[in-house]
Parts: sequence; C-alpha cells; structure tokens
Amino acid sequence: MSFQLPDLPYAEDALEPAISAKTVFFHHNKHEAAYLSNTNKLIEGTAFENDSLEDIIRKADGALFNNAAQSWNHAFYFRQFTAEKGLMPEGRLKEKIEKKWGSFEHFKDEFVINGVGQFGSGWVWLIKNKNNELEILKTANAGNPLTMEGCVPLLTFDVWEHAYYLDYQNRRGDGLHALWDIINWREIEKRFV
Ligand code: MN
Repeated sequence: MSFQLPDLPYAEDALEPAISAKTVFFHHNKHEAAYLSNTNKLIEGTAFENDSLEDIIRKADGALFNNAAQSWNHAFYFRQFTAEKGLMPEGRLKEKIEKKWGSFEHFKDEFVINGVGQFGSGWVWLIKNKNNELEILKTANAGNPLTMEGCVPLLTFDVWEHAYYLDYQNRRGDGLHALWDIINWREIEKRFV
C-alpha cells in the first residue's frame, strides 16, 4: 500500500491571518509530503507494506517511526482547522475542559505554555487518557500519543519551527495563540468519543 497526501479541507489561504497561504503550502506540500514519501520508501517490500499508519506508528522505531508518525501527525493537524473563524467547543467536551482547567481561556493558556515549553521540535496535544480524563501532553520530534496505552488524541499544535517561522519567526507563542481562531471544534468533538 502506498500512502497519499490527503487533500486539505479548505483553500491554502483560508487560514489567514493565523497561518499564511505560504506556510500552508510549504508545510503541507513539502514537509508533510516528504514524510509520506519517506514512509512509502521505507515500507516497500517489508512486513509493514500493508499496515495502516496507526499500526506502523505502534510497531516501528527509528526512521520509519519518525516518518510514519510525522505523516499521521500532519494529517491530523491540518484536518482540525477551518476557514470558519472563532468557533468554540460545545457540549460534553466544553464541560470537560471547564471542569479540568476552570475555563476555556485558562485551558488555551495552559496549552500554549506547554507548546512554548517544549524544548526544540515536537507537538503539544490535548488527549483523552486511559482514565477518560482530558490531559495536555508534550511530545518531542515525531512523538505521538497513539503509542501510549488508551490515549485518544483530540487536538494538536505543531511546534516545529517550520510550522510558524515564515509567519512568526522566533515568536512561537504568538504563532500558537493565533491557531485558536481557526480550530474546527466540531471536528475535535467528533474525536472525543
Ligand atoms: Mn510540521
């Protein structure tokens, strides 16, 4: 099986000003595409050839883990955004966030603090853990919560420099804060099952 670059569910300029069309283009068509292409090369003729990306992430290590996890992380990342600005969480997810962090505003601040605090490259995640509790988690490099027992990833911000440097240079926190405006909370709620 060969993995294909997923289409974006919006136009390349639809996320402006939070993420510029130029960043979306390079991040999706160059960075994400390269991780997929590397994954395809690494699985060719191996026991991983017919596995899903999720299976590969759970079983592989080294270069294959890195490329497969980055392929999955980026598809998950880009799918969570929308051209519709300013959506808010609703229902059970909203209640869980408010119960855990006191308010949605406080949750957003904590999430960004964790993203800024990830030294070097990585990701910051909102997950549902094995005890059914919401949790903010940082992972380094290609790290992915699917490798942790019972973890369901709900939301993620990419903190690699390539995700924000064209638009925000060294201001990682500004680049992360801007993303709240373009989160498709209807998609995040679907992940919260
Ligand atoms: Mn990235």
